Amino acid sequence: MMRVGHGYDVHRLTEGRPLILGGVRVPYDRGLDGHSDADVLTHAVIDALLGAAGLGDIGQHFPDTDDRYLGISSMLLLSETAKLLKKAGWRVGNIDVTLIAQAPKLARFLPQMRDCLAAALSIAPGAINLKATTEEHLGFTGRGEGIACHSVCLLIDN
Ligand code: MG
Repeated sequence: MMRVGHGYDVHRLTEGRPLILGGVRVPYDRGLDGHSDADVLTHAVIDALLGAAGLGDIGQHFPDTDDRYLGISSMLLLSETAKLLKKAGWRVGNIDVTLIAQAPKLARFLPQMRDCLAAALSIAPGAINLKATTEEHLGFTGRGEGIACHSVCLLIDN
């Protein structure tokens, strides 16, 4: 059996925070605000995986009211999600991601992000595809107020 999942997340850009996307620190004058490291890309991937498995969402498993997750690397949350999937009898078929950011330019960081995600999930990097796009200066992403991310995935039962 195969099941599809979708994840979407947004975080606000703010001064005085590092910009972490897909587990990679990207040089920029602002970073994403949030309880964890605010890795919007990884959060969208986690929600897609949990959705496909019928396991709810990231907030249920890793609540932002829990101090254990304050400033935590989202890569650890992704590894925990991988354990939940394995326990439920699922393996990842593929993951596709569209990151929406007006700036900075992200293309050269995508291979490293893909490797980080693959390592946290213990899957081949080839099972993950990452894309980055701008929104032509339209909306909150286009004005540089925040970064959004969509992800879909396919899970296959073991
Ligand atoms: Mg989030």
